[in-house]
Amino acid sequence: MQTKLLIGGTLVQGTGVAEAVLDAATGQQIATVREAGREQVDAAVAAAEQAFQGWAQTTPKDRATLLLALADRISGAAASYAAVESQNTGKPLSAALNDEMPAIADVFRFFAGAARAQHGLVAGEYQTGYTSMIRRDPVGVVASIAPWNYPLMMAAWKLAPALAAGNTVVLKPSELTPLSTLKLAELLAELLPAGVVNIVGGRGDSVGAALVGHPRVRMVSLTGDVATGQKVLTAAAGNLKRTHLELGGKAPVIVFDDADLESVVAGIRTFGFYNAGQDCTAACRIYAGPKIYERLVADLTSAVSTLKVGRQTEDGVEMGPLISAKQQARVAGFVERAAALKHVEITSGGRVRAGGGFFYEPTIVAGALQTDEIVQREVFGPVVSVTRFSDPDEAIEWANDTEYGLASSVWTQDVAKGLRVAARLQYGATWVNTHFMLVSEMPHGGFKRSGYGKDLSVYALEDYSVPRHIMVKL
Ligand code: NAD
Repeated sequence: MQTKLLIGGTLVQGTGVAEAVLDAATGQQIATVREAGREQVDAAVAAAEQAFQGWAQTTPKDRATLLLALADRISGAAASYAAVESQNTGKPLSAALNDEMPAIADVFRFFAGAARAQHGLVAGEYQTGYTSMIRRDPVGVVASIAPWNYPLMMAAWKLAPALAAGNTVVLKPSELTPLSTLKLAELLAELLPAGVVNIVGGRGDSVGAALVGHPRVRMVSLTGDVATGQKVLTAAAGNLKRTHLELGGKAPVIVFDDADLESVVAGIRTFGFYNAGQDCTAACRIYAGPKIYERLVADLTSAVSTLKVGRQTEDGVEMGPLISAKQQARVAGFVERAAALKHVEITSGGRVRAGGGFFYEPTIVAGALQTDEIVQREVFGPVVSVTRFSDPDEAIEWANDTEYGLASSVWTQDVAKGLRVAARLQYGATWVNTHFMLVSEMPHGGFKRSGYGKDLSVYALEDYSVPRHIMVKL
């Protein structure tokens, strides 16, 4: 297992605290990673700063060539990356291999192309005798801080646009799931000029905070919890760093009476429970029309009870464990508090699964009301609430009545109605008759406390670069 950090092109052992890394499906330790010592964080930032001048001046074509090579090598070694990812997170190996690895390679490929095809305002004489033109230049050293739910994919979402735009990066994976990113470090050391990407493992309040407070870091990109985003913003104020925040979510799923019940049930079974619901876009907050509510709860309850929960390589496994004992206890706490309410019925699941690992049963919380904690707060686990609405305006009002604004969906056979509702929802994404589908060409990011950074798409390239005006006196 590769547990060294990458600093200035060299793989080195961390000099900080040793952290145990677990297999979430067994709770057993699989590796020890020593986090970066304070001097190593400084060295990583210094290496990134030194590499910046050279990297920023490479042509888009040269950067694209390297990003494409990265994509090819990741694709070529997809099985071994997926094995590490699934062993650490506990997620099904098939999901890591067949869903995540192709998407990761595609992100590098997309930004390789996007780097070479940027466009913008036209150069011209906006003042007589002067020619103006726009440049888009990199920001400098970017500190990228990733969460544990899709470790390598989040690393790719951060690295690809930052590098394509000409920045250099110090990346910190989550202390719970550093292994796939540290494996990637070997490849980065081989392919990229020294210092262009540095990887420092460690906890948020030590290594993460040191990066965010570092005076030579020019931008911080974080995917994580809202509370972490707030801390990052406060710390980034020190030298007015740019920030790119992708925070939590609590996706509403509005199901109108005319929706195709079978596809709604199949959709929520998949998109509510994928990655054990540890997904900021998870279809977790259902609003069902008055006529479809009873049938939806009944059919969803039976569909969800057939989800195959198990360890990474078990036959036909669809859902793995939560990431940690802490997350398991947090999810159980939400469900216990919801179950104690008279109007709520837990129609499926609602229990920790015994037998090792951090499993929690796929759970349906029926009859939840708009003001209930289970409807308002992000659970980040395999728990879906169902609430009955009486008319479309109420559904839209409730869907928007939350502090989050990342993803949402509308289910109806009347596509015009779907579009009208989509236009009134305050979410970074709204799907009609599907949920959760991401493509590299389209942006992912939120409103409100879900943050404001855009991942994927040309909008990410914009976020990681600065438009500049150059004016020439003729
Ligand atoms: P987290 O906020 O606990 O940790 C995220 C990262 O931030 C980790 O690397 C952690 O070490 C680091 N960190 C923690 N405190 C820090 C600090 N003070 N300074 C700097 N870094 C710090 O989040 P998590 O538990 O790993 O992930 C779950 C959260 O991430 C959920 O809320 C989820 O919704 C969110 N998420 C959002 C998206 C999105 O695209 N919007 C995607 C995935 C996950």
